[in-house]
Amino acid sequence: MRNLLSPAVCSLPAGSRFLRFAVEMTTPFTSADAGAALWHTEGMHRLTLGDFELSAFSDGTYPLDGGAFFGVIPKVMWSRKVAADDKNYVTTGLNSLLIRTGTQTVLVETGMGNKLSDRMKKFYGQPAKLLENLSAAGVAPEDIDIVINSHLHFDHCGWNTVRDENGKIVPTFPRAKYYAPEGEWQYARKPSERDAISYIPENYDPLVESGQMTLLRGGEEIVPGISVKTFRGHTACMQGIIVRGSQNSPPFDKLRAGSVAESATRVGHPPDSSLVPTACYISDLMPTTAHMDLTWGMGFDLYPLDTIESKKEYYARALPEKWLTVFTHDPHVPWAYIEKDEAGKMVAKEAK
Ligand SMILES: [Zn+2]
Repeated sequence: MRNLLSPAVCSLPAGSRFLRFAVEMTTPFTSADAGAALWHTEGMHRLTLGDFELSAFSDGTYPLDGGAFFGVIPKVMWSRKVAADDKNYVTTGLNSLLIRTGTQTVLVETGMGNKLSDRMKKFYGQPAKLLENLSAAGVAPEDIDIVINSHLHFDHCGWNTVRDENGKIVPTFPRAKYYAPEGEWQYARKPSERDAISYIPENYDPLVESGQMTLLRGGEEIVPGISVKTFRGHTACMQGIIVRGSQNSPPFDKLRAGSVAESATRVGHPPDSSLVPTACYISDLMPTTAHMDLTWGMGFDLYPLDTIESKKEYYARALPEKWLTVFTHDPHVPWAYIEKDEAGKMVAKEAK
């Protein structure tokens, strides 16, 4: 649980979150940065994107080995951006994206959940905060119409299911239609020895068997404006979730009463009004703002050279079209606009 973590093992300067990000990306951090608040402890984050409303929710944080998190990048470099504790753990977020389309409520990714084995709890803890964070914003499990998983690693689909009082695995979101990449599910049935620990069949097999989970090949539009696209690298079949607000529709400005404070609302329109407002939950292709550089991939990636090619493919659209990037594991920044500065370096800009 949390006692696996040092009191604060994270990176950004205290008090900052979005506005100073361009500075943060080029300014070395020190261990004095530890202690910055995690984004989900500072209130909810919400914005409008065309006619959709987007909210970020957290399942909590967990510790990952800093070396594994940054692959071949030397610690002398990554430790300028992210501070590690005395065991070399860095704090990792578990960020879900809630999309209200006006008629449907869509949940992208379901965190780590509450069904980890004792052995896995020793490594990762089990924060299991997602349902209570959704509840605090007035969202009940029955409200979710659609659940989308980018891939099926345990820290991305954990709340797909829960154990009921009789120990039976049941859907956490009883009314929801679930979606996940077909290639992920096929692979998860016979994973390599290297990443077998990351697949927990109880998170998806009962849903596939009951017909509640639909398997995707990549490229499908799940509801108008929300589609998936395969980005190979972290795994062979991981999919990003692309949300495109309609250009012509009025903004989705009716915020649900009694949910979150008005002050937390941020409006995510690209500065150029000729562009279709677009967001992408890019998942483990780019898990945090510290992984924006093409070569900063995770050690967990099964196909690291493809991670680089997929990032290039993503940036080729996301930069000129000013997409909002949603970060699955960033404990400080759930989303940001990525821009290339004069020196060619990727910087994250606050969504507003
Ligand atoms: Zn993963």
